[in-house]
Amino acid sequence: MEITVVWYKRDLRIADHAPLHHAVAQGPTLPIYVIEPEYWQQPDNSQRHWQFLKATLLELDTQLTKLGQPLWVIEDSIENTLSTIWDSFGKFKLFSYQEYGPQWVLERNQRVAKWCANHEVNWLQFQPFPVFQELANRDVWDGKWADYCSQALLKAPVKLENIATPPLRPEIWPDAKGWESPETEEPPAAGRHAGLEFLASFLKGRGLHYKAEYQNLTSMLQVCSRLSPYLATGAISYREVAHQAQRAMKFYKDKGHAGWTESLKVFGEQLKLQSHYMQQFSDSPEIEMEPLHRSFVGLRENEFDDSRFLGWSEGRTGVPIVDACMRCLIRHGWLSETGRALLISFACHQLWLHWRQPALHLARLSFDYDAAVHFPQVQLYADTMGIRMWQIHDIVALSKRLDPEGKFIRRFCPELDELSETHIHSPWSMSHGEQVISSCLLGEDYPEPIVDLSKAVQAAKDKIKAHLDLTYDPNETERIVNKHASRLVRQDFQDRTQVRGQITPESHFPPV
Ligand SMILES: Cc1cc2nc3c(=O)[nH]c(=O)nc-3n(C[C@H](O)[C@H](O)[C@H](O)COP(=O)(O)OP(=O)(O)OC[C@H]3O[C@@H](n4cnc5c(N)ncnc54)[C@H](O)[C@@H]3O)c2cc1C
Repeated sequence: MEITVVWYKRDLRIADHAPLHHAVAQGPTLPIYVIEPEYWQQPDNSQRHWQFLKATLLELDTQLTKLGQPLWVIEDSIENTLSTIWDSFGKFKLFSYQEYGPQWVLERNQRVAKWCANHEVNWLQFQPFPVFQELANRDVWDGKWADYCSQALLKAPVKLENIATPPLRPEIWPDAKGWESPETEEPPAAGRHAGLEFLASFLKGRGLHYKAEYQNLTSMLQVCSRLSPYLATGAISYREVAHQAQRAMKFYKDKGHAGWTESLKVFGEQLKLQSHYMQQFSDSPEIEMEPLHRSFVGLRENEFDDSRFLGWSEGRTGVPIVDACMRCLIRHGWLSETGRALLISFACHQLWLHWRQPALHLARLSFDYDAAVHFPQVQLYADTMGIRMWQIHDIVALSKRLDPEGKFIRRFCPELDELSETHIHSPWSMSHGEQVISSCLLGEDYPEPIVDLSKAVQAAKDKIKAHLDLTYDPNETERIVNKHASRLVRQDFQDRTQVRGQITPESHFPPV
């Protein structure tokens, strides 16, 4: 009988797994995971990703083994793997989830499609997230998103027929893969079990103050759900999280608990944001390499200061809030949206670095790295998207707003622990005597600021303006708004253009 191969990628679970569910219903099923050498050579993949993934794979292998058929793990290209399976089993069907990946993934998928066509293999791809193909614009997206989330969860199969022994056993899976990355001092536990614990602890307790505090750097590690690494590896499905959040919402609503219902409403909006960005990436995958708004091409491409990049990437810029965010990401492999936004904005504006290298650095450090969420967010905060006005923050004012007492800074930059609340956000404002009293000599214990902040902000504003004065194309803004923006933002954009009748960037980029 023809077997069905279930090709696991970023969907490492057995419950609510459409390819596995449908394959098992049809007969003998072979679950595989392919460690693709070329994939792990890509600059956005890192050793810490592999370590997290490997632990998740181990758990998945245990679960599949209990059902009857262990996971086949193979280190080779996917085309060679499919040929090996073909040689052993003859014609088969291939089931997997779709991927909204970077260029390398898209090209690999084209090769797989070609292989399947040449071998008359039927490759069925299921939808892992509410992301839809060939949408003319976003008008119908909200309704489709709601339909996707409300579909029933699929139960895990109870049994798999044993058809083959895995070629690689867990004890000989590779230890290291991907670009070297610093050791994580406090990595999250990997796997579905850990992910479900994060979900439960969030919905039962940690999430109560989410609305008020999810952007607060001091409390983010506690208040945010921390579910993103489990969504990125697929240890938990998007729909499972949506269902559990809706159930919790109903429970707290029935109890009349306003705090919880408000917080879960915001959490639901954030979850929806994830698929919004994925949709954007799926519609414009070229933004992995190029600015979404073509008027920004050439803005920073020819300037890159390696020493600034090094200082930024190691958390040694001399600007405490920036260094604390980077060190948090290095230590935990996780940072809230606010922290990541601050890092990218600072790199692209104050340090005037092109966004691509900073984006890859954050990608390698983050356990939850997913190109389809990552690159749209990077472009949003590098302000190359053209869907809103560019924003260049006064970093000291922002630091005071996000971490008023400097608790977050003190935690991740302990050399600044003895600084007063006045100086913690701007150590360079201390006199030499104050540095001695605070046990923190600038240039020795903690770096001097890597750039003159006010000059850097002014220079960035001037350069952006001068560039857009030459290159700004209003049709490009219109194209982006029509393709990617919601109906409301589109309407707002049209109103602005009609009322002001101007064609400047300021009048064309609607604020988000
Ligand atoms: C520059 C930059 C790069 C990013 N790269 C990634 C990435 O590679 N992978 C990734 O999963 N997220 C990325 N994000 C989005 C966001 O930072 C993380 O999703 C969030 O911090 C994950 O933590 P959490 O699970 O505790 O989120 P919570 O605050 O608990 O939110 C719940 C879920 O909502 C979704 N979500 C929350 N905020 C966002 C957001 N801003 N955009 C899209 N979805 C969101 C995520 O699925 C998240 O797990 C990036 C943000 C920025 C600014």
